[in-house]
Amino acid sequence: MVSMVSILFHKLPFQIILMRKRLLFVIALFVFISSTGQIKSPDDFMGYKIGTRYTPHWKIVNYFQHVAANASANVKLEQYGQTNEGRPLLLTFISSADNITRLEQIRLNNLRLANLARDRAAPLEENAPALVWLSYNVHGNETSSSEAAMMTIWALVDPSNTKTKEWLKNTVVIIDPCINPDGRDRYVNWFNSIVGKEMNPSLNAREHREPWPGGRTNHYNFDLNRDWAWQTQIESQQRMKMYNQWMPYVHVDFHEQGVNNPYYFAPAAQPFHEVITQWQRDFQVTIGKNHAKYFDANGWLYFTKEVFDLFYPSYGDTYPVYNGAIGMTYEQAGGPAGGLGALTDEGDTLTLLDRATHHYTTGLSTIEISSMNAVRLVKEFRKFFNDAVSNGVGEYKTYLIKNAAPDRERINSLAALLDKNGIQYEYAGGNSRGTFSGYNYFSGKDETFTLEGGDLLIHSQQPRAAMVKVLFEPKSRLVDSNTYDITAWSLPYVYGLKTYGTKTKLQSTAGSKPSAVTNNVNDAYGYVIRWQGLQSVKTLTALLEQGIKVRFSETAFEIGNQQFDRGSLIVIKKGNEGFGSSLPNVINQACNANNVKANVITTGFVDKGFDFGSSKIHFMKAPRIALLTGEGVGSNAAGEIWHFFEQQIDYPITLVNANDFSRINWSDYNVIIMPSGSYRFLNEKASTDQLKDWINKGGRLVALEGAVGQLSRTDWAIKSKKADDAADKKDPYVELQVYEEREREFLKTNIPGSIFKVHLDNTHPLAFGYPDYYYTLKQDDAVYEFIKEGGWNVGVLKKDSQVSGFVGSSLKEKLNDALVFGVQDMGGGKIVYFADNLMFRSFWESGKLMFCNAVFLVGQ
Ligand SMILES: [Zn+2]
Repeated sequence: MVSMVSILFHKLPFQIILMRKRLLFVIALFVFISSTGQIKSPDDFMGYKIGTRYTPHWKIVNYFQHVAANASANVKLEQYGQTNEGRPLLLTFISSADNITRLEQIRLNNLRLANLARDRAAPLEENAPALVWLSYNVHGNETSSSEAAMMTIWALVDPSNTKTKEWLKNTVVIIDPCINPDGRDRYVNWFNSIVGKEMNPSLNAREHREPWPGGRTNHYNFDLNRDWAWQTQIESQQRMKMYNQWMPYVHVDFHEQGVNNPYYFAPAAQPFHEVITQWQRDFQVTIGKNHAKYFDANGWLYFTKEVFDLFYPSYGDTYPVYNGAIGMTYEQAGGPAGGLGALTDEGDTLTLLDRATHHYTTGLSTIEISSMNAVRLVKEFRKFFNDAVSNGVGEYKTYLIKNAAPDRERINSLAALLDKNGIQYEYAGGNSRGTFSGYNYFSGKDETFTLEGGDLLIHSQQPRAAMVKVLFEPKSRLVDSNTYDITAWSLPYVYGLKTYGTKTKLQSTAGSKPSAVTNNVNDAYGYVIRWQGLQSVKTLTALLEQGIKVRFSETAFEIGNQQFDRGSLIVIKKGNEGFGSSLPNVINQACNANNVKANVITTGFVDKGFDFGSSKIHFMKAPRIALLTGEGVGSNAAGEIWHFFEQQIDYPITLVNANDFSRINWSDYNVIIMPSGSYRFLNEKASTDQLKDWINKGGRLVALEGAVGQLSRTDWAIKSKKADDAADKKDPYVELQVYEEREREFLKTNIPGSIFKVHLDNTHPLAFGYPDYYYTLKQDDAVYEFIKEGGWNVGVLKKDSQVSGFVGSSLKEKLNDALVFGVQDMGGGKIVYFADNLMFRSFWESGKLMFCNAVFLVGQ
């Protein structure tokens, strides 16, 4: 089939361009050939036909290096980073020799076109080539795409392929052959180790059933195609640095879907976010029609405009769109069930070669149509950013984040997120004053507020205005609620920061970034560290790791004119005698490393509150934590917690397979974390008794989402709240479903991810460090009955607590007067319930401290 396609490519349209500059072309071809060595096709290089077996990542790297070495005039290879497991991450730039020579000028000029260059020099629109970025294999087990990447780069450098050389005159192609090498190799190594002498296309065969956790995600089981904006993972952090230095005009993310689906390409499905311009919509259609030409000629099935929408901002299609590009997802049938060949419902065998060939075809077709429209692409790209700078996007011209001492840590992490995305912001100077009016995110009303020094301002009129609007608007407007993902991510709620949106641009005097805290404490009675966010947590883990004895206060207290809230950490000399005179240094180091203040106290006699010897001051036992993972456990959910402990707060945990429950020596641990999942051991009496016994003896079970649901079906845990039966029954026909509407019917009972305000009892350690509210991301209707005795209703949904996003109409009633976060006492131990995922994709910053409260403070 490869040969069919290449014949096709040789026959179709580009004669027009060819004729125009035939002479130049011959010269260019001469330059091209003269600069190449013995460049091989991937088939020749590998010694097998691409698509007939799986190529491990290191061999893909070898091939790209081979191409770069032997076509150096037209190819530049750059390693931009490496994965958690140490595999290289590569970008390859392919273009005419002339463009490759001036690659850095092209990049700088492009940033000038986008108003993003620091030098403010005037950009040149003429001669600016189209930048087309092709990203392969973000989902590691959607494996045809890295195979297609090799076929694609070969078509671009193959000296006998004259058409592609024409395209490369006005186009720079950027290929990332594998965004997620760890995930790809997890799949490929598994597959190669279990496939028989011949592949077996029957979907019953084990080679079509990938084991837990699957190769879709990276090392920490994060979906990298949900991480573009948040950049919580090192693959994304390293790649996005490159992306934002290049800013392509066209970006394609290659994927795979179920084995029975036809190929999917642009135009995308509704909902489209309203910031998407007409040009971006139109050009998706132009691209789709170009692909259709090739698919029609080959008789291949495809579909467009369904399923894959453009809304959630952290995908490989939406993120580029919100940053001025035409961003697209292409989906080939296959995925982890695809293997080397899979029998479809229609009785055909879909092979890896078919899959790779389709991706190869759309990849080349994308480059072709981009090259044909290069001038227009440059012009529209420039216009996107010029409009952004002149007019901004959206009704709010400034978003103002109020500076408040307890919010400092989260303001700093918001600023870090803005930096990662190239979003400009400023701090108000010390003499900024004034009263203004704007939309208060927390009250949902227009109100007056004062501008003060230290407030953080994000103005809409900046190059990345579209991204600013998408990330900050209080409510995203959904033209169609049938979306693929969450519908709310407004950053003021995600970070729990008091924010106003103003319809006129706020002017402030320029301030500077708050300076880092430098502690230099000396020998003293003790030290107090406020409990305000992840930096406080990291300070705690650093102290615990060194064996420092730490206490915390259950109540607020005042000492020597300093006020401290609940949860404040206290380190006193008592118990830490072993550190002798080095104790102040240990404190200084831990606090300085985490930018938090160590407050010196000279006495244990407090002015208000309880003295340090009181029972209200708790000694903290360093938790010994086991995280349940493995078959049955949500791999993303478990991965979020694994990553959190290892990479964010640096605290040791033991990962245990949930199915080994009865074989574990649980007395080694005093905290068990149960991420969302379906736990087999909860159906076995002996294991359940073992768990209850462990809790009764003082263990702490922390359950999240689906795990709470499963516990609620036992007779010893909290109870699920059922939907009210009092639905309106007056008109029985209202209830009947219309056949054509069947896909939409489910929306009535759907919450794709929506923000709710939770009322907190912040006198309970589970909510220390919080005000009396919290904004939660609800992704289902799982809520619970209040705990009447033997426990605490720490987080509850009162009436009408939905703030932003979509909620199915028939669920609204159920999500009132219900428990979402609670603590149940059980013998000497506790169960902590989180109905929602506080750690979702690791970007819901304000939830992380509550999770730490469950692990470090509750039950101490
Ligand atoms: Zn995918």
